[in-house]
Amino acid sequence: MNPEILETILAIQRLAYVLIGDNLRVLEVVGLAHIGIRLFPLTPGRTLIECLPELMGAEDAIEAVLAGTQPQLLIEHINRTGADGALCYITLCLRPYHDPRSAARLILVLTNTTQSGTALQALTQHRNELRLLSAQLAQQNAALEQANLDLQRLDEMRSNFVAVAAHELRNPLTPILGYLELLLEGECGMLNPTQHETLQAVLKNVLRLRTITTDLLDLARIESGRIDLNLQPLDLRYLLEMVCHEYQPQLAAKQQTLQLTTAPDLPQVLGDETRAAQILGNLISNASKYTPESGTISLHAAAKHTGYVQVAVNDTGIGIAVEDQPHLFNAFFRARSAAANGSAGTGLGLHITRLLVGLHGGQIWFTSTPSQGSTFFVTFPTIDRSA
Ligand code: ADP
Repeated sequence: MNPEILETILAIQRLAYVLIGDNLRVLEVVGLAHIGIRLFPLTPGRTLIECLPELMGAEDAIEAVLAGTQPQLLIEHINRTGADGALCYITLCLRPYHDPRSAARLILVLTNTTQSGTALQALTQHRNELRLLSAQLAQQNAALEQANLDLQRLDEMRSNFVAVAAHELRNPLTPILGYLELLLEGECGMLNPTQHETLQAVLKNVLRLRTITTDLLDLARIESGRIDLNLQPLDLRYLLEMVCHEYQPQLAAKQQTLQLTTAPDLPQVLGDETRAAQILGNLISNASKYTPESGTISLHAAAKHTGYVQVAVNDTGIGIAVEDQPHLFNAFFRARSAAANGSAGTGLGLHITRLLVGLHGGQIWFTSTPSQGSTFFVTFPTIDRSA
């Protein structure tokens, strides 16, 4: 080949070649300048291994190439510092050389593969980083799973503890209430007005304690899924009348008016009588509690086209501040207005009510205007819908 043409090809392809003779001695180096690597001490007379320590350990493969049992030895992307000081990559390809006019037995072609080497290096680095990240992710996932299990276990323990504590606290309340009633009825001797008043205060607090323990017990039962609903067809009008009757004394004590209206032909709903009464009772009790004296509580039940009966409990009470509204169904949440109103409570009633409504397959929501009143809506599925 014309030496000029060869020179041009070597320059364009950034190639160099080395001819190697016996004992792996370098005989001739051509085009080294083209590959732009300064630090190659490749000079005739030296051995190939001296010039390229990367070949150390590859003697058997070199022998195989010499013997013709292996077509070539390829070593890709050896790194070196380039003429400009930047990292470069070179690929070596060693092949047999047969030219009767030359003592060379091997030819080593060197290619500047900095571009692909750099890309490969970056790829490998990214792959390693990815592997590391995915290992970290797996580790974090496992830790999260464990934390979740721990949390579940703790939650179960808390629920069990609350259930046992509430149960144990509530048990003695029954005989206490019994004895209080006996005392108040004068069965153990006549009471003077001061004693009567004192015992009334004790009764009020014992009743409050019973409500708290019942709420806690309900919550623990619902949270642990240990609540069984006895679902049956319910006549909501009848149930509403019953619950209104039950809360009449509480309303009378505040001279509040209670109005109940129901749409004609109200379909039966599917519900647990005790729990449905608890849901409605809680809404009526709250309406009364958070409405000043002489206010009005109105209840209205009507069928909705969607297969539900909707009960609306409206009051003319203190209402709920806009910023408190999103938290109303959270456990233990009490609006500031409730505290200002001076009414006692645990903030558990609405939370439990919502859970019970959910267990019935219904929904609960409210609208409220501060200082004007609130309306709580609750739905129960009709029998046809539940079927
Ligand atoms: P409690 O009445 O024991 O505090 P609830 O869970 O029944 O707990 O109610 C949570 C809070 O919601 C109450 O503390 C009160 O601030 C607010 N609330 C509930 N019902 C009404 C209502 N009808 N009008 C105004 N505020 C209400």
